[in-house]
Amino acid sequence: MPNELGTNQRPLRVAIVGSGPSGFYAAESLFKSENNVIVGMFERLPAPYGLVRYGVAPDHDKIKNVTKVYEKIAAREGFSFFGNVEIGKDLTIHQLRKFYDAVIFTSGAEADRKLGIEGEDLVGSHTATEFVAWYNGHPDYRDRQFDLSCESVAVIGQGNVAMDVARILCKTIDELKKTDIAQHALDALAESKIKEVHIIGRRGPAQAAFSSSEIKEFGELEDCVPAVDPKELELNYASQTELEDTSNAAKKKNFDILKGFVSVPQGNKQKKLFVQFRRSPAAMYPLEKSSNKLGKVYLERNELIGEPGQQKSRGTGEKEELKCGLLFRSIGYRGIPIKGLPFHDQWGIIPNQEGRVADSEHIFPGLYTAGWIKRGPSGVIGTNKPDSEETVKHLLEDMSDLNPCKNPSDEAIIGLLKELNVRFISFEEWKKIDAAEIARGQESGKSREKFVSLDEMLSVLE
Ligand code: NAP
Repeated sequence: MPNELGTNQRPLRVAIVGSGPSGFYAAESLFKSENNVIVGMFERLPAPYGLVRYGVAPDHDKIKNVTKVYEKIAAREGFSFFGNVEIGKDLTIHQLRKFYDAVIFTSGAEADRKLGIEGEDLVGSHTATEFVAWYNGHPDYRDRQFDLSCESVAVIGQGNVAMDVARILCKTIDELKKTDIAQHALDALAESKIKEVHIIGRRGPAQAAFSSSEIKEFGELEDCVPAVDPKELELNYASQTELEDTSNAAKKKNFDILKGFVSVPQGNKQKKLFVQFRRSPAAMYPLEKSSNKLGKVYLERNELIGEPGQQKSRGTGEKEELKCGLLFRSIGYRGIPIKGLPFHDQWGIIPNQEGRVADSEHIFPGLYTAGWIKRGPSGVIGTNKPDSEETVKHLLEDMSDLNPCKNPSDEAIIGLLKELNVRFISFEEWKKIDAAEIARGQESGKSREKFVSLDEMLSVLE
């Protein structure tokens, strides 16, 4: 006999694990369905919004306005937020399933890919993720130290995260101080001695992963000037063909912006942004053998091989040295496994069939996934909307076969969390924290001053 899930007598109860864009779009899609739905959103951190809060650059505040949409979704009847609850640690998936008929994992991609080269772990070699989370006031990263006393920094990778990292390093304090950048980062950046930032890509200017708007910004900074050697912009035949293809208009725009940078007068700005292509880091070394601190990176020159649109980089054996005291690897995020779920280690995702969690042998009934942990770290915030909708569509198709949970009650899950001594943050509490952050920011002319620890957030609620 089919179950009654989704009716007024027995609403469909869905737990969403992760409160970033894909989690909120999954909730929205569930509420838009014709079913009666209850959503419990579980977030490891006390505050919601995932990468919108802790990933989007502080000086790109317009992008963060999307949280207004998420607030509206959170205001829907049947929505509950459980911040500061880690699934796989505070609660097992098995425990969660007792209160929810289905679970959607939208935990994103928190970790980084590795280069796998000698010297990668020297002091001064960091992942972009660490730096981004640090300047965005992520509680797990607030105590990180970055030695900004060196003059030259290398950023490996040319995606938009690399652009964010480089831009934050290149901007003046005046350009940053009105944003919601964490105060500890602003204080450290105020002492920065950095003069050169090198953004290094393994392929050529026709393949760079950044968006045109991101690269263009480097031509508009107060005290930093882009420096591009025309030799960097030489194209092989396949790359010329790529740029002539009208479907590649965005790459052509990037190329034109870079060409414009070649003739920018160097003037007397303090900082320079170098954009370099066809180079891969081969090894990192300290300046003196006895030191464990990064001093230089060896870059191998690459050539491009393959058909237009599928060109890959191949090392030529020719190496050059770049002195740098700080290096950020910005070569893509990867997801981390959740206890009790299958994990595709190579791709860093939860294996799935269009959102249904599945390993090579079977589908895991009642378990779903959406966002970066489903498809890998690609696309912009809006890309997650159709992705979450696809997952929810399959969940609703499966609804009549779902095994209804034993204890369909919010009081019961709240009771268990209390019994386990898990101090969860509700959405009403988050709104108070949110208001306090905005008020704190106003005192110093910032859009917001984030609290960077659970204790600070809890003190607002006392
Ligand atoms: P990404 O766009 O995938 O860029 C990764 C970069 O790392 C590429 O340049 C890639 O080069 C390079 N790379 C990968 N493996 C490498 C290796 N072994 N050695 C050297 N280079 C390597 O990733 P992302 O920058 O982390 O961004 C993730 C997603 O978030 C993207 O979709 C991005 O657009 C989005 N995002 C958007 C914004 C915004 O809209 N403002 C801001 C931040 C992030 P190849 O091209 O050769 O693979």
